[in-house]
Amino acid sequence: MNFITKIIGYSALNIPLFSFEWGLPNHPTVLILGGVHGNEIEGVTLARHLQAEFLKSFTFNLHVILVPELNPDGVLLKTRGNGNSVDLNRNLPTKDWSSEFSETKYNPGPSPMSEPENKALIQLIEQNNIKFIFSLHSWHPLINPNGPCEEVASILSQRTGYKIEPDMGYPTPGCLGTFAFREKNIPTITYELERGLSPAKIPNPHTQAFIESLKLLEEQFSK
Ligand SMILES: [Zn+2]
Repeated sequence: MNFITKIIGYSALNIPLFSFEWGLPNHPTVLILGGVHGNEIEGVTLARHLQAEFLKSFTFNLHVILVPELNPDGVLLKTRGNGNSVDLNRNLPTKDWSSEFSETKYNPGPSPMSEPENKALIQLIEQNNIKFIFSLHSWHPLINPNGPCEEVASILSQRTGYKIEPDMGYPTPGCLGTFAFREKNIPTITYELERGLSPAKIPNPHTQAFIESLKLLEEQFSK
């Protein structure tokens, strides 16, 4: 198994941002992000379960990059934002980025991509030929696809009973789904686990559903 660990940058509070990579970089690259919002620990737990599964066995013809905690400051402080109280999912350099925000928790920062975590993320996206992104959050259970990801969304939905909602139902300027698909043409699924879900309920069905969705991506890329 080809496995490497990297530090891709540092948070606002200077905590290292780790990425874990499996497979060969000449295989299609899939990026899995957890902990964009530090208070959404369910997504971090799912990312850590996937990490544990891949460390046991990684047999996909894929290059998988896993960043379990993009926002370690928020995980440490149990906050949505990073150490600068910026919502990383409103801070990406999209055409719809806006300095306006309705609630403190949605603070988009002083300018697009002002935050070190997002600088590291964009560098990671630009240095790798990423074909698909999963971003793991928690809120109401739902699967939010951006771009052509119907089949993958449908496998996740079948295995978990989560609904596919192409529209989050509220504006999300500067978010990853918009940045990755609209600006970079990378299909992206934002996966919202049920907030407060017991960690014991994450491996089955969620970890297994993700493993199946990776198998499907492997098949799609091999065509
Ligand atoms: Zn979130």
